Amino acid sequence: MAPRRRRRIAIPAVPAWPPRSLPRLYVRQPLGEGARVELDAAQANYLGNVLRMKEGAGLLLFDGRSGEWQARVAEVGKKRMALSVERRTCEAEAIPDVWLAFAPVKRSQTDWLVEKATELGVARLMPVTTQRTVVERVKLERLQAIAIEAAEQCGRTVLPGIDEPVPLARLLEQRDPSRTLYFADEAGGEPVAGAFKPGAAMILTGPEGGFTDDERAAIRAASNAMPVSLGPRILRAETAALAALATYMAVAGDWRG
Ligand code: SAH
Repeated sequence: MAPRRRRRIAIPAVPAWPPRSLPRLYVRQPLGEGARVELDAAQANYLGNVLRMKEGAGLLLFDGRSGEWQARVAEVGKKRMALSVERRTCEAEAIPDVWLAFAPVKRSQTDWLVEKATELGVARLMPVTTQRTVVERVKLERLQAIAIEAAEQCGRTVLPGIDEPVPLARLLEQRDPSRTLYFADEAGGEPVAGAFKPGAAMILTGPEGGFTDDERAAIRAASNAMPVSLGPRILRAETAALAALATYMAVAGDWRG
């Protein structure tokens, strides 16, 4: 019989799946004890018609600022629903200060990237257009909706910021050089696990076709930029972004014990 492996879990994990019994919802309205929340039609439909929640049913709410709150259904109308907020269940989380600047890829892959990066704990998502970026348009509202859904599901209390796309040159010009720029360079760099250090970080990953030589030179010349390698294989753009982010969380973010 194989010896049983001793489990050494340093971080008490609150399983995100299967879902906790209470539905969890993001609302724009600032929350506080005793607050009344009028849901929009889509949210009312989801709770009333999909989850069939009745008056008195409990749920969890977060507003992206003030942590998480226990609430109850106070009133159910045909196309509306009102909730009453009872008490705070946890304070707002402190998300590691890591931003992901990525060249958007095809729509379904970008959606996937935004969902997974939110789950992994990214603080800010920054679409960057490069010479070989081929996507037509990034729909910010759609990406925000995807991030909200991911945050609801994974227990986040703070949403990632999502920026309008910026050209690479502007990103490099306007960035604060005190934030380390970790440039995922498939042509080689420091192995990521050793390169990432706690502190303000921006991870930059390229499009399917990679960065051009000019772009690579410009990124490498930026102050406080560090080229990093994600190993010997060429990863797809969205895989590279998520692999880098997961490694950051493990060695410099909040996955450490
Ligand atoms: N230039 C390549 C593919 C680019 S992969 C080609 O067309 O053959 C897309 C992006 O993922 C790259 O720009 C880089 O930022 C990142 N990437 C992929 N594999 C990587 C690796 N092994 N190390 C570092 N970054 C990588």
